[in-house]
Amino acid sequence: MALTGVQIFKLLPKTNCKKCGFPTCLAFAMALAQNKVELAKCPDVSEEAKKTLGEASAPPIRTFNLGVGEKAVKMGGETVMFRHDKKFFNPCALAVNIKDNLSDDELAQKASEVAASEMTRVGQKLRIDAVSIEYASGNAAQYEKAVKLVADKATDAAIILNCKDTAAAGAAVKAIAARKPLLYGAVNENAEAMASIAKTNGVPLCAGAQGLEALSVLTEKLQGLGVSDLVLDSGAKTAKEIIDHNTQIRRSALKKNFKPLGFPILNSAIRDDSIFEASIAVVAIAKYASIVILSSIEKWKNLALFTARQNLYTDPQVPMQVEQKIYKIGEPTAASPLMITTNFSLTYFIVSGEVENSKVPSRLAVMDSEGLSVLTAWAAGKFTAAKIAQFIKESGIENEIRHKELIIPGQVAILSGALEDKLEGWKITVGPREANAIPTFLKSRAS
Ligand code: SF4
Repeated sequence: MALTGVQIFKLLPKTNCKKCGFPTCLAFAMALAQNKVELAKCPDVSEEAKKTLGEASAPPIRTFNLGVGEKAVKMGGETVMFRHDKKFFNPCALAVNIKDNLSDDELAQKASEVAASEMTRVGQKLRIDAVSIEYASGNAAQYEKAVKLVADKATDAAIILNCKDTAAAGAAVKAIAARKPLLYGAVNENAEAMASIAKTNGVPLCAGAQGLEALSVLTEKLQGLGVSDLVLDSGAKTAKEIIDHNTQIRRSALKKNFKPLGFPILNSAIRDDSIFEASIAVVAIAKYASIVILSSIEKWKNLALFTARQNLYTDPQVPMQVEQKIYKIGEPTAASPLMITTNFSLTYFIVSGEVENSKVPSRLAVMDSEGLSVLTAWAAGKFTAAKIAQFIKESGIENEIRHKELIIPGQVAILSGALEDKLEGWKITVGPREANAIPTFLKSRAS
């Protein structure tokens, strides 16, 4: 169980030296008890105290990677119940389930779909992160062969081995141990054998039980057997169960520092109906899952899930914005169009994407509006004629182009008159209201 601030205080040097950044050892102890600071901030703590305090100072939700390499997914490490309290740190991994009893061609096809799932949204690369290979054949040799084939084809993806048969799991884990697969198969009946496989091969282990009580007993047992990197499957199936179980797990870990449930959560969203599956997956993403398993990869479903995940894991305290500057799109000449917009990331990526689609080399002046979109920035007085004129003058763009025409977003057409007054000698053209009309607009000017 977690130690109280006073219990922790008794183990500290009590010199009040302030090296930890706190005025007293007691203040540091109180912060440590609430997981607001790391024990390592006190340089003088004794080895004995470190050992005793290890549990109290450990992160409330254990952090480790799913998979290896650049595309490994960091799991756990969350510190708040609600995103607006601070932020959520490690976006949930999306995994697709593949049964081992498919033909080699089908296995290869499914694995290649994972590799090709990557898309870019608001400047971030988003993808299906993992493959979960299900032991459906009942044949250990076939499972090992399928695991090797999928691992070979989906080279960047993390691997989850969904197998409760200890002989089949042991052989499969050994075959791809270097990829650090998550062994998804520990239940009460096979706990000793699964713990041994996970420990021997240095891979994380997913514990599965029906309900949180049985799950806590199992994770304590697995920890006692020497496995530290655990993932939780509480058996939640419906949306209500997912919300109930996942919330209780997160609350127990963060508010009670209950170590048996201080691990990342895995939910299966697999359903026969794709829309139903996507809905369940979004519920799991929104409510604390670290891994969500899907039955298939479909572009529309990926887009919905990637968007939900990306939005939830952006930092609400930091506006999504790009650097203020004049961006070149294509290879613009001195005669190429000059457009202007604000520095809200989504605005920038949508507008620049549409300018790119037009195939008309252009310059896009992106003005600092503290991360606000065009209309909001205008309403807030951050995208006014005076400020735009000042930005254009100070940017030095007049030395790069041989025309003096600035294309402004259609939504702020109202600024055109004032801008022509402030930017002497410039022609102000009102562009489209919506970004998707930019290609037609630019092409019609170029022809
Ligand atoms: S650094 Fe350690 S000894 Fe010094 S005040 Fe902080 S807790 Fe106390």
